[in-house]
Amino acid sequence: MKDRRKLFRLMIGGVVTAYLLLAGYWVFTGRFREDKMKETVIWQSETEKDDKPEETGGKKIALTFDDGPHPVYTPMLLEGLKKRGVKVTFFLMGSAVEKYPDIVKQIADDGHLIGNHTFHHVGLENADTALIESEVVSANELIEKIAGERPQFIRPPFGQCDDGIESDTGMICVLWSIDPQDWCTKDASKVVKRVMANAKDNGIILLHDQYKTSVMAAFTIIDELQKEGYEFVTVDEILLD
Ligand SMILES: [Zn+2]
Repeated sequence: MKDRRKLFRLMIGGVVTAYLLLAGYWVFTGRFREDKMKETVIWQSETEKDDKPEETGGKKIALTFDDGPHPVYTPMLLEGLKKRGVKVTFFLMGSAVEKYPDIVKQIADDGHLIGNHTFHHVGLENADTALIESEVVSANELIEKIAGERPQFIRPPFGQCDDGIESDTGMICVLWSIDPQDWCTKDASKVVKRVMANAKDNGIILLHDQYKTSVMAAFTIIDELQKEGYEFVTVDEILLD
């Protein structure tokens, strides 16, 4: 009887010990599993960060087109810009605005920015009041009549900007920082290459919608620079920021 009771106690003791060992093991492995899970979560978030494309946002660049509107190439340009959802700046000549008012209206309706490029493409260096009146103010009035808004920006032909123009007209002179000489080369791939090599944040690109090659180049420039994280904006967003 005594032996059987001893045996019974030993059995109970064994079961309790086994239970305690099992519980200990479970608690230990449980914590271990938790640690492992934490490790996995950290690893995942780190790799997710690494997988993200390089931070390229925030770069702005502006396309500008001088001497228009052109009866063929400006509508061609407008169509491609609409397809890409890109807004640009046009510096229009009063004499061409007079000839193609419907295209000017289209430019405004599409949401592009319109600037002044004088009435007859004349240099404004040391311009007197009479010249400013006939070349700048008259073009402003015509553009306002057609597009509904008076231009605030002027690109003086040949880049001749002196303080007098700004103080006399209250307008802002806009030059450029990237000039691929599109009017001279008339070679789309050369224009693209030159712009791509010189593209920079807050850059202003000078083109002329007077040539098919310039329009084609503009489309490639947009597609390529967008891939590099550039946002195309109108010049007011670069100059008035
Ligand atoms: Zn010009």
